[in-house]
Amino acid sequence: MKYISTRGNYDKVDASEAIRLGMVPTGGLFVPEEIPTLSRETINSMQNSSYQEIVEKILDEFLTDYTEQELQEAVAKAYNCDNFSVEEITSLYKLDDNSHVLELWHGPTAAFKDLALQVMPYLLSQAIEKEETDKDILILVATSGDTGKAALEGFKNVDGIEIIVFYPEEGVSQVQKRQMVTTTGDNTAVVAVAGNFDDCQSSVKEIFGDQNFKEVIADKGYQLSSANSINWGRLVPQIIYYFAAYAELLNQKEIKPGEEINITVPTGNFGNILASYYAYRMGLPVNKFICASNDNKVLTDFFKTGVYDKNRDFKKTVSPSMDILISSNLERFLFEVTGHDAQKVTNWYQQLKEEGKFEVDEETKDRINEIFVGEYATEDETKETIQAVYQEHNYVIDPHTAVGVNVYNKYFNNYNDKTTTVIDATANPYKFGTTVLSAINDSVITDEMTEFDILEELNEETGVEIHSGLEGLANQEIKHELKCKVDGIRDIIQQVL
Ligand SMILES: *Cc1c(COP(=O)(O)O)cnc(C)c1O
Repeated sequence: MKYISTRGNYDKVDASEAIRLGMVPTGGLFVPEEIPTLSRETINSMQNSSYQEIVEKILDEFLTDYTEQELQEAVAKAYNCDNFSVEEITSLYKLDDNSHVLELWHGPTAAFKDLALQVMPYLLSQAIEKEETDKDILILVATSGDTGKAALEGFKNVDGIEIIVFYPEEGVSQVQKRQMVTTTGDNTAVVAVAGNFDDCQSSVKEIFGDQNFKEVIADKGYQLSSANSINWGRLVPQIIYYFAAYAELLNQKEIKPGEEINITVPTGNFGNILASYYAYRMGLPVNKFICASNDNKVLTDFFKTGVYDKNRDFKKTVSPSMDILISSNLERFLFEVTGHDAQKVTNWYQQLKEEGKFEVDEETKDRINEIFVGEYATEDETKETIQAVYQEHNYVIDPHTAVGVNVYNKYFNNYNDKTTTVIDATANPYKFGTTVLSAINDSVITDEMTEFDILEELNEETGVEIHSGLEGLANQEIKHELKCKVDGIRDIIQQVL
């Protein structure tokens, strides 16, 4: 299996090279030349497979230049009971007759990103071995929250890799900061940058284009790589849990073999929902994809009008991991849905760069609307949904998941579609405890409470166990105290190496 560029501007590469490069050096994203398909029997028989067996099956289809032994090793190290708090890795919670919440937050950092970032470091480290260089890898991450900790946990103690995470000093929550600065591992560093997230991200991005600095790093024995969500190595592991969820619905007799399901995903960069679309193209029976957004509803507007327009105010919401105006992975979807029309994709993304918007043609729009629906939830609706789900089902959901549930309810009320639906729960409620507790019972929150007190209080209020990755954070040893100014990032990197 070879990988090609969505813009038709690069030679075909193996999976390992696509993973090592992250994105296409000349612009564009790597996608599989052809999507492998699985037979109905294979898909139905997954009800007798473990999560790990499904992982191996899917990775084997896409990562054909990896040996079976390499994949087995990566899977064993990533998806085990040390890293995930339930044996089945992901789990389903039945909300009502038609809808099931897919809990994707059992990993070490309490967000769905763990499902990819626990395994991707091994795939990257094996990719480097195939390349046979003598250089170690340096991973640089700029984070506004969830990705930093998930990357640190995934990469810590992986041979041949050093990871440095930069976060805006005033731009992350207390819990998120504490999660990062308590990370163990002898190859990790965490740096607070005096500036906002954009400053932090632009400075890190700049380094990737700085030839001189790359040579400085090379002298120290390192080459740069990134772990961001457009890397194919992060996307492919996300395809797996849609098959696992389907298998579990079969097991629970909620659906019959071959029956179609709907999939609802709270969406930001379009990675998670794109993974479900790849599962569908591989043969998973899907009726509709429901793309849920918050107030930054660029995607909702796109699915309704065919116009993608990022020229609008950026809104800070209670579902911050979805506060995104450019959903990078949409490019892959457009490439697939136009039957690999690299010329169209190139034109659209040129327009996006120059004018901040583009419009797809009628034919493409019709094709998209056959299977995709977009809706959004306002801030008030998101909080009301957290409260309503708690009151009606005694079940606690985080704000991102609440966006998904709210949008699914709107879809159901509009179309009365009784198809069994999976709604992704992308974070554990304790990860966003303040919003969750204030939605459930605002009266117990006082001004003196820290975010850590609020987690305890949410536990008192609901009786739901605190996620193990967030438990006792306030008392854990702080391991990282590095700080720098925006223009001091290069110096800090040299210091760390
Ligand atoms: C990253 C993230 C999302 C958005 O996922 P995409 O793949 O970028 O669409 C949603 N919810 C949470 C909690 C996240 O961390």
